[in-house]
Amino acid sequence: MNDLVDATDLINKTNTIKLKLEQTLSYLKDAEAGQRGYLLTKDTSFLKPYYGAFEKAEQITYEIDSLTRDNKDQQENVKMLYLLLNDKYSLLNFYQTLPRDSSAFNPAVAEPYLQSGRRKMDEIRNHIAVMINKEDELLKNGTQEKKRYVNVTPFFLITLSLLSLGILIISFLRIQNDLSEQRKMKTKLSVQNETFMHAEESAEQGTYALNDKTRRLSFSDNFYTLLEAERESFTTLEGFLEHVHPDDKPFVRRVAKEAYKHKQSLDIRFRVYTKNGKLKYVRATGKTVSTDGFYMMVGTLQDVTDDTLLNEELKRREQQLRQAHLLGKIGVWETDFITKKTTWSNELYNIFGYKRGEIDVSDTDARYIHPEDMQELNKAVQKARETGEPFEIEYRRFDKHGKLRYVYSKSEVKKDDKGDVTGLFGVIMDITQLREKEWELRESELFSKKIIELLPNIIYVYDLDEDRDLFIAGNTSSILNYDPENNYNTDDIMKELIHYGDYDKIKIHHANLRKAHDNEIHEIEYRFLFKNGRWIYMLSRDMVFKRNKKGEVSQIIGVAMDITDLKRSNENLKSLNNILVKKNDELEQLNEELSSFSYVASHDLQEPLRKIRTFTNLIAEKDADKLSPTAKEYFSRITAAVMRMQKLIEALLSYSRTNISEAHYELTDLNKLVEETKNDLNEMIKEKNVVIESCKLPSVKILPLQFHQLFLNIVGNAIKYSKPDMPPHIKITAELTDGTDIAKLGANVQQHYWKLSFVDNGIGFDQQYENKIFELFQRLHGKNEYPGTGIGLAICKKIVQNHSGYITATGKSGIGSTFNIYIPE
Ligand code: ADP
Repeated sequence: MNDLVDATDLINKTNTIKLKLEQTLSYLKDAEAGQRGYLLTKDTSFLKPYYGAFEKAEQITYEIDSLTRDNKDQQENVKMLYLLLNDKYSLLNFYQTLPRDSSAFNPAVAEPYLQSGRRKMDEIRNHIAVMINKEDELLKNGTQEKKRYVNVTPFFLITLSLLSLGILIISFLRIQNDLSEQRKMKTKLSVQNETFMHAEESAEQGTYALNDKTRRLSFSDNFYTLLEAERESFTTLEGFLEHVHPDDKPFVRRVAKEAYKHKQSLDIRFRVYTKNGKLKYVRATGKTVSTDGFYMMVGTLQDVTDDTLLNEELKRREQQLRQAHLLGKIGVWETDFITKKTTWSNELYNIFGYKRGEIDVSDTDARYIHPEDMQELNKAVQKARETGEPFEIEYRRFDKHGKLRYVYSKSEVKKDDKGDVTGLFGVIMDITQLREKEWELRESELFSKKIIELLPNIIYVYDLDEDRDLFIAGNTSSILNYDPENNYNTDDIMKELIHYGDYDKIKIHHANLRKAHDNEIHEIEYRFLFKNGRWIYMLSRDMVFKRNKKGEVSQIIGVAMDITDLKRSNENLKSLNNILVKKNDELEQLNEELSSFSYVASHDLQEPLRKIRTFTNLIAEKDADKLSPTAKEYFSRITAAVMRMQKLIEALLSYSRTNISEAHYELTDLNKLVEETKNDLNEMIKEKNVVIESCKLPSVKILPLQFHQLFLNIVGNAIKYSKPDMPPHIKITAELTDGTDIAKLGANVQQHYWKLSFVDNGIGFDQQYENKIFELFQRLHGKNEYPGTGIGLAICKKIVQNHSGYITATGKSGIGSTFNIYIPE
């Protein structure tokens, strides 16, 4: 249509231009004609068209110019036309200069102008013709175009109408469709609404929505119902917060506001109080949605009281269960036959000493099971798989450190919908400790049983209230001639087997036991009828075994043993002892007699000896001149013998006096004793240049007089048996020794002893005589070289024995001797 209009416009425009061009020409013609008319007639009225004609032509030229703006050629032409017009005007204007007076007109003057005016006019005419031609061409094109468009337009119009009609029909159908859709939607919406409300109610859930634009908060009916509040009883967040538990309020307020502010979702749990004061646990969710350019916060409030309580209970239970698993060493496992995967609970890993993931439990089982149990376990699993029946089994498995663990495993079977077995799951309990304890117990039981069997004793538990043995073990078969398998009727013991003469004794024994403390041992001897009809003596050692609730003794435990032989040998021993005591008494008497005899003898012997000596001396002095030299010699020998005899008797006396009857032990400083000894031997020491070197000696509890004698004898001997060419050197030392060091002397190994050593550099002696020298009258050296009685060391030994000690001597001929004295610390 636009093209048609355009074509029409073009035609109109071309026509207008053509017209205007004609007009221009016509104005020029009019002006020229007018001018000529005036020139010919001098009538000025002819000039009327002449005046203003050029302005009009010029005006039209402008109009043409504006109409041909879109045509470059024509524009050029318009410019040209304009120039031509101007030229024409200039030529015509020549006449303007002419005098209005016709007389002044000279045709000769006017002629060139007229000529060139005519030529200019032709030029203009030609030019306009060219322009019109051009427009004609355009017109021709425009008409053709128009014609084409005019031909096509009806077809277009029809197509357009049909198209419009089609669109109209489709639109109509669409609207129709939308309408029914909307109707359906409406129904659906109302159903949905109903469903939603129902869902809200049954889920114990309310909803809320906060419109960002209107700032209005709305709650669903069920929201209020949930809080047992009336509808619209609150319409703000603060209003709702009134229902929230005071402890949770700040938290809920903060979370709600933040979620709203940052357009985040929320999901929180807290406590609310209903209007009636009931505490409820609720879960609130929220989410920001944007609709039609504004935000809305929508969400739900759900009553999760039951869930929460249940959850808490569940959590507690789960914790308890885990605790129980941990304490009871119970682990859980699961095997899936389809995926071939096995999983363990943490406790199970713990039981076998692993950390989770340390071993692949799906395929390592076989390597860790005890070979003896492997087959049985495999069988159980196989059977469960085939029959779908659960199994219970005990087996051994090595833990991470290779230690064998006893486990009890109980399984359940997993089945799919069709009832096929798809896997197993179950619990494993570590019963290693139990089994080990059992073994220990079994061993110790066996141990006691064997011991009881080995002992020649009977062990029993006797009930004092029931008066019978509750338990009896031991060598009953050999002692009592009872078959171990035979039932042993204990009532018979008292009546048939125990000597009736011992009944009362046993009754008293039992009565005493009823009053006994727990660890008191009560012994009793009684007679018992042996299997071959012989009475044997039994000794029972009994003690409290059990008490009743009041704390009274109700059962006793005891060991009975056959003491017949013991008793018999005891009796033998007793009579032997009696004899021994008698003999001892006799011996003591004899000893006393002997010592009084020796005392009397020595004492009484001294008197005649003294007399012999006195009279021998008298004879030797008074009748010295009458006696022959030989007689004199004999007399001096007699004197010497008598003196020796006296010395012997003195020594013997001193020996017989060395006893402990008048014992009086005193704590004595041995250093002092050494000093006293030195004093006593002063002269001899000076004479022989003796050196006595004594280290610090202890103070000990001794009989001082006897010890003085002891020191005197030993030091005296050391000086006496010194080498003639060497001054005697005696070293006295003391040290503590252990009883074990001198055990072979018979010392008490638990006792400490002071060891006093006397070392000299004398002539020494042959070691083989180490014991002999302590015997009475035993001498190693000749009496002429070294005078002596042979009693000194015997006295020393007796003194040391009186102190429960020991004396030893070691010597080396020509080197020296050492005398060691040991006395208890
Ligand atoms: P005696 O009166 O003969 O000294 P003892 O009983 O004191 O009697 O000594 C017995 C014997 O032991 C001595 O005769 C002597 O032969 C020997 N004897 C004693 N002490 C020493 C000693 N220190 N060195 C060498 N021999 C000794």
